Amino acid sequence: MADAFSAKAPGRVNLIGEHTDYNGGMVLPAALSVGLAVALSPRDDDTVAVTSGGYEAPAIRNLSDDAVGEWSDPVVGAVREAKNIGLLNGGATLDVQSSIPEGSGLSSSAALIVAILKAARAAGGGTQSDVELAVAARRVENDYMGVPCGIMDQMAVALATPGTAMALDTKHLEYDLIPLPISHELVVVHSGLTRKLTDGRYAARKVECDATKAHFGTNDLCLLQVEQIEQEELDPVAKRRALHCATEQARVWTAIDALKAGDIAALGQAMNESHISMRDLFEMSLPEIDALVASAQELGAAGARLTGGGFGGCIVACVAKETREAWLEQLLARHPQAGFIDAISGEANGKA
Ligand code: ADP
Ligand code: MG
Repeated sequence: MADAFSAKAPGRVNLIGEHTDYNGGMVLPAALSVGLAVALSPRDDDTVAVTSGGYEAPAIRNLSDDAVGEWSDPVVGAVREAKNIGLLNGGATLDVQSSIPEGSGLSSSAALIVAILKAARAAGGGTQSDVELAVAARRVENDYMGVPCGIMDQMAVALATPGTAMALDTKHLEYDLIPLPISHELVVVHSGLTRKLTDGRYAARKVECDATKAHFGTNDLCLLQVEQIEQEELDPVAKRRALHCATEQARVWTAIDALKAGDIAALGQAMNESHISMRDLFEMSLPEIDALVASAQELGAAGARLTGGGFGGCIVACVAKETREAWLEQLLARHPQAGFIDAISGEANGKA
């Protein structure tokens, strides 16, 4: 068998800026300590053979296979993309090991695809930059998987470094890495409810945003003025979606400034307000998640919100380091179906 080439990618948590990455806006994701590793051996034939720690049976597929709703779809899509951009001549044999929970808004799919493209770059001696691989990884989700996601996840898992948040302008693909707080941790807690981006609700929001964009004649709902949206004669649903985008954009900038200034209260407030907007304007939350966020806030988090594509998955809360243990214990006592995933800060990569 050919040599194996390895690559890793972390999961990511989005601190704030939800559904802004296909609306011309800002996002603020950070690399988690949970992550995914791929070992890839190029093949001469068109077979894609993959084993994964998360799945009992290996998958044997062909490069020409369409996405069929199998767990191995992103692998086939990524290997096909690697071939399309000249990194592989045929299929590949792969092994995947991951500690990122799937379908939880922490970008396991992007980590998987980016790690495969990085391993293929090593195998093929490619000169593509990490940004170019992130863009290629988005194509796999958009064009092969049929998930109409923006560029945040791929950029975050391809480029974010531990201990920093990535202030990413998704319109221009420009970014700044900002140190996370030292005094507080960003704690990721799973709600116990999983969702699939392929389940249609995420896509429904994208369709609604597209219709709203057509109404305003712009691709960038995040760059509209709030007053302009409020004055517009517009379907109420479209108005709510646009208002979320425009106000979320302002909140991301508030959060970026707050992180830079070490102003935890302002960061927390922006996170809390973001949750209300996701709940009431973008309508992407669930009652159980609202309850978990409310408990996180009541128990002393500086801020808490749903994170990721919505309709399940994780919340992220900003919690003072010395209170985190007690906070978490009380939170999980109130919400037994929830579970701790990760905690990151500016000091260490969440392992402290
Ligand atoms: P998220 O990206 O939020 O975790 P998605 O629904 O976008 O959720 O992606 C989950 C999909 O990614 C899984 O259905 C599977 O196809 C793939 N995947 C994620 N982790 C693994 C893994 N460890 N092994 C194999 N496939 C994985
Ligand atoms: Mg995904």
